[in-house]
Amino acid sequence: MTESNTQGRGTLYIVSAPSGAGKTSLVKALTDADPKVLVSVSHTTRDMRPGEEDGVNYNFVNQEQFLDMVANSDFLEHAEVFGNYYGTSQSWVESTLRAGRDVILEIDWQGAQQVRRLMPEALSIFIVPPSKQALQERLDSRGQDSADVIDGRMKEAASETSHYAEFDYLIVNDQFEEALSDLKSILRARRVRIEAQKEKITSILQDLLS
Ligand code: 5GP
Repeated sequence: MTESNTQGRGTLYIVSAPSGAGKTSLVKALTDADPKVLVSVSHTTRDMRPGEEDGVNYNFVNQEQFLDMVANSDFLEHAEVFGNYYGTSQSWVESTLRAGRDVILEIDWQGAQQVRRLMPEALSIFIVPPSKQALQERLDSRGQDSADVIDGRMKEAASETSHYAEFDYLIVNDQFEEALSDLKSILRARRVRIEAQKEKITSILQDLLS
């Protein structure tokens, strides 16, 4: 991690996990409790699932629109996952960080690698389920995908999980509240790092030192 991430600029967090590990619910609970953190809404070419909303869960676009955005360098990172394209808006991430808000990217390991290369100050978090059986049960109970899709996702889960060691933090989502507390403590620890604090509490320090 570089030490340039100061002066009120927000912190970039990458959160990755195999599908069904509970990543989206954990991130939602985190952002509901902490208005300083925003989640990037990705663009995707995949079909909208029941209950999803365009512009909220994803920006749903067709392949042509997606490839135009790639050609325009609109994406900070983009990747093909399960046969569909996904990408993160470069301008939104940059302007949000510059406004002093923390940003969470819920992306796969390929995107995580690209972002780490471009923004080495980003902190990356990998979330795993407590077991393979728990993962299978969670995917089944979502009721959103066909058996074939779930089978494919179980195979992809092993492939995604094989990248866990590339991340800075590893959280096991067994008890939701405990995993959420782990996630919150990563953000809290980041905010009290010396390079963040010395900018924020200059007046306290000046007073104590005078
Ligand atoms: P889902 O279609 O189930 O919402 O997401 C499938 C996978 O795509 C998940 O692993 C998710 O993290 C990943 N994903 C979602 N948005 C992005 C993105 O913008 N970039 C990349 N690289 N992966 C993404």
